[in-house]
Amino acid sequence: MEKLKEKVWLSSPTMHGEEQKFVQEAFDTNWVAPLGKNVDELEQEVAAYLGAGYGAALTSGTAALHLALKLAGIKPGDVVLCSDLTFAATVNPVSYENGIPVFVDSEGETWNMDPRALKKALQKYGKRVKAVIAANLYGTPGKLDEMQDLCQEYGVTLIEDAAESLSATYKGKQTGTFGKYNCISFNGNKIITTSGGGMLLSQDREAVEKARFWATQARDKAPWYQHSEIGYNYRMSNIVAGIGRGQMLHLEEHRRRKKEIYMRYKRGLEGFPVQMNPYLTCSEPNFWLSCITLEPEVMESGKVTPERIRKALEEKNVESRPIWKPMHLQPVYAERDFISLDGKDVGKDIFQRGLCLPSDIKMEAAVQDAVMEIIKGCF
Ligand SMILES: *Cc1c(COP(=O)(O)O)cnc(C)c1O
Repeated sequence: MEKLKEKVWLSSPTMHGEEQKFVQEAFDTNWVAPLGKNVDELEQEVAAYLGAGYGAALTSGTAALHLALKLAGIKPGDVVLCSDLTFAATVNPVSYENGIPVFVDSEGETWNMDPRALKKALQKYGKRVKAVIAANLYGTPGKLDEMQDLCQEYGVTLIEDAAESLSATYKGKQTGTFGKYNCISFNGNKIITTSGGGMLLSQDREAVEKARFWATQARDKAPWYQHSEIGYNYRMSNIVAGIGRGQMLHLEEHRRRKKEIYMRYKRGLEGFPVQMNPYLTCSEPNFWLSCITLEPEVMESGKVTPERIRKALEEKNVESRPIWKPMHLQPVYAERDFISLDGKDVGKDIFQRGLCLPSDIKMEAAVQDAVMEIIKGCF
């Protein structure tokens, strides 16, 4: 097959033009600072869409996770149980606060934190555990009610990392509402984007106000610059928030397109020894990224590997990506504990057998078919 003329991206920003209207409004009224109508409106729109109470618009999803940990009261030496198979941004903020991340293995049904392994970790670390950070990988909700129940039972704060799963639902309820504190991301490759940004969400109004306070340098209410706490420069700008408001108008459409792409892969790759990233029937993912895992037998034969497929795609101008490398396999976290069931390592297995396929919503059906031909050609 010929090399594809136009690069096929994993997931790139899709703008619609309406974003510019809100940005223009910010210019016209000279509200280009990290406060203004777009920031306020975006917070309200996202919180209302999710049914999440209140939102604080921030410079990134990572900043949202950091402030969530501060709200959870993480002190040096506290243990935070974290998803293991995820992007490093899920867990790095634990280290910003000198907490101790402990990684909890995934289950095979959603690739997210295994509640059984979570229980084991809660039992092992007891009162040292202050919070749990659970990510919904690739837009697929984890077993959120089970994690919620366990956190309640053990009296620890649940932080939901819904950075990848905006608009996904679990048992009819939006992700980003299951934690006491919830984080979403508007980074460039996510389902909607503000170019870069994130939001912290909670039903607790005071907590969200506190997050806004920390995010704007923790300035006390005084005529001069007075600080009783350490602050951060984490507030989203009114320009960026304008892009977000325009994107919110297209969130449902983006999700529909993502699902079409997933379903097309599922149909198109039938009969080949691959599985799509799985989800529970009680959930509706946002299908942010379509992924495959190769059947174990194929891996054992050594003929085809995810890396071989990735290279074959790259040669034809198609971007694909390995699954997130589990945190307990990262050099920087080599000293940290990893809790799994019966000596298994589900996350590592998914990492070794898996690949994220191009899931860009601007990818046309014919192009996606061409991508699948390249994949099939590897077998
Ligand atoms: C993207 C992402 C983040 C971080 O969001 P940023 O806005 O890029 O800081 C956190 N967790 C997960 C799982 C992500 O995919």
